[in-house]
This record gives sequence, C-alpha cells and structure tokens, in this order.
Amino acid sequence: TPFAALGLSSTLADTVRDRGYTTPTPIQEALIPSMLAGRDVVGQAQTGMGKTAAFALPMIHNLGEGTGTLRSIVVTPTRELAKQVAEAVYAYGNRLDIRVLPIYGGQPYQRQTRRLNKGVDVVVGTPGRMLDLIRKGALDLSAVEVAVLDEADEMLSMGFIEDIKSILAATPDARQTAFFSATMSNDFQRLAKQQLDNPASCRL
Ligand code: AMP
Repeated sequence: TPFAALGLSSTLADTVRDRGYTTPTPIQEALIPSMLAGRDVVGQAQTGMGKTAAFALPMIHNLGEGTGTLRSIVVTPTRELAKQVAEAVYAYGNRLDIRVLPIYGGQPYQRQTRRLNKGVDVVVGTPGRMLDLIRKGALDLSAVEVAVLDEADEMLSMGFIEDIKSILAATPDARQTAFFSATMSNDFQRLAKQQLDNPASCRL
C-alpha cells in the first residue's frame, strides 16, 4: 500500500486503510519518511491537510508497542485540538496498545494524575496545564523521545512561548522534535532555530 511504501508498519498501513485513507496527502508524503528516520521536521500546514496523521503515524511507528512509559508528547494551543489529536492517536495506535492521555485545564487534577500514574505512552496537552503538572511533579518528561508542537504559531500568539520552552527543557536534549504551524512568523522561526536540529521541512 502507499502508506507502507512510506516506511510505515503493515499494522499502521492496515489501520489507515481501514479508516478509508487510500493515498497519503502531500504533507504526509513529505514528512512521514523523515520522521521515521528520526529527523526533526517543520511542517507548514493548515488544518485539513492531514498534518495530524503526518506526525502521529510515524510517532506511533517509532514507539513500537505501548509500554506505559511516557515517550511522546504533543503540545496544542486549545483543549479542542488536544482532544482531537488524542482521539487520532488513540485510533491509529489502538492495535498497538498505545495509551494516550489528553491533558488540559478545567479537568480535575486527580483524574489526570491517576491516569499518569497508571502509565501512558503519549500525552497530548495544552501548555499551561502540562507545565502545572510538571511543577507538581506529576508529569515526568525525562523519557520523552518525540515532542510535537501543533499549531505552534497559535501558541506563540497566545503568549505561551515561555511555557513551551519550559516544557521542552523538561525533555531530553536528544529527543526528536516536530513543529507544525500555519504561518512562519519571525517568532516561530526563532523558536525553530533554537529547538530543531537540521530539520526536514515541508511548506504547502
Ligand atoms: P488534519 O489536517 O490532521 O486535521 O486532518 C484532516 C482530516 O483528513 C481528518 O479527518 C483525517 O482523518 C483526514 N485524513 C488525514 N489523512 C488522510 C488521507 N491520507 N486520506 C484521507 N483522509 C485523510
């Protein structure tokens, strides 16, 4: 299948085929092989171009099977997007026992910390609540291998720059990093320069 040809496992290729995806979108074609190879990536894409699958599929492929250790994070500007992305990760990773937890403000802390203590593979969250939980010692990012910023420009214009830097600083330097943004603002480019190592990029 065209998804397997990008390097994705047959389990993931079957999962997306069952969801009715027949061909990868341009951003998926451009970035999935780079992410599978472990490279940092920058994707300029609007919602609707398939960017979620562009990072979620290789992220799940690289996780292999769920182990209950937090190895991937996705940071999003809003709780709606966090929920959407978490649902996509859940759907793509279901056959591989990938456990995903959305984390955002307005939810009781207790429920989130209980789920974190039980073990999750992927956290998808908004910056403020993620940082809260890091500072409470409830969110440990020391084993994170992949960090994704979704709608990064949106987060920067909402004033989350310092929160994002603190979250990334709580992950290992050797992590893989992927930034997605609808626009390439100066602030975004500055952050990308600081945080990404020789990224593969795709502008649509
Ligand atoms: P996104 O840009 O990530 O918000 O995705 C937009 C919509 O496109 C979602 O409903 C996805 O399920 C769907 N989608 C993603 N990739 C593909 C694909 N290769 N073929 C068909 N639909 C897709």
